[in-house]
Amino acid sequence: MSIQKNLDQIFKNIEEARKKSKTKENIKLVAVSKTVSADRIKEAIDYGVIDFGENKVQELEFKYDILKEEKPRFHMIGHLQSNKVKDVIDKAVLIHSLDRNSLIKEMEKRGERNNRIIKTLIQLNISKEKTKSGVFLEDLDGFINIIEKCQYIKVLGLMTMAPYYDDPELARPVFRKAREVFNDLSKKEYKNINMKYLSMGMSNDYEVAIEEGSNLVRIGSSIFGKRDYN
Ligand SMILES: *Cc1c(COP(=O)(O)O)cnc(C)c1O
Repeated sequence: MSIQKNLDQIFKNIEEARKKSKTKENIKLVAVSKTVSADRIKEAIDYGVIDFGENKVQELEFKYDILKEEKPRFHMIGHLQSNKVKDVIDKAVLIHSLDRNSLIKEMEKRGERNNRIIKTLIQLNISKEKTKSGVFLEDLDGFINIIEKCQYIKVLGLMTMAPYYDDPELARPVFRKAREVFNDLSKKEYKNINMKYLSMGMSNDYEVAIEEGSNLVRIGSSIFGKRDYN
């Protein structure tokens, strides 16, 4: 299947899931382009995709440079090492993976040094999978308190990943919980936190995620095909 055909199908599926959702919000698509060549990213850009997700800073930097003319908007969606923050803050429009205190500290430091506001999402680990990063729900209030002391960090929402299930229905409770937390935080007044994006849903489970209130999906293999890590 071509990228264009895949995208057509995904746009259709997104719209159907959106109609079934309680929120009926517009859904932002981030095309996850990790391991995908610049040429294939270009194909997606030509077909109207603007936002792309990468999970390695070096790969993001490389593609940012060779696709300068096309001006894609890159999102950093993977685990972010503290020593890479300085390399990514000028190139990523949004960092989806703020998951620990040391990263808050490093973002604040680099933001101050470069006089730049860093836009990010708090990554939640709702299911407490050991293989995934993210803040546990019981630690969220304390985490937010630390962010509220910062000057250079703006949190624009939440990101989460459900465990992988063959049947995406099983992921529904995780997405529902994330939307609940998102709604709760939306009602509160914060200096540095404004709930705009709820980033959840991947190739396997994005329709369920949207039905439960996701407004940003990160889809890779359903657009570009199976990834080749070699
Ligand atoms: C790879 C990745 C995705 C996309 O996964 P697909 O199953 O290919 O859609 C989404 N989010 C994150 C954080 C990822 O690392």
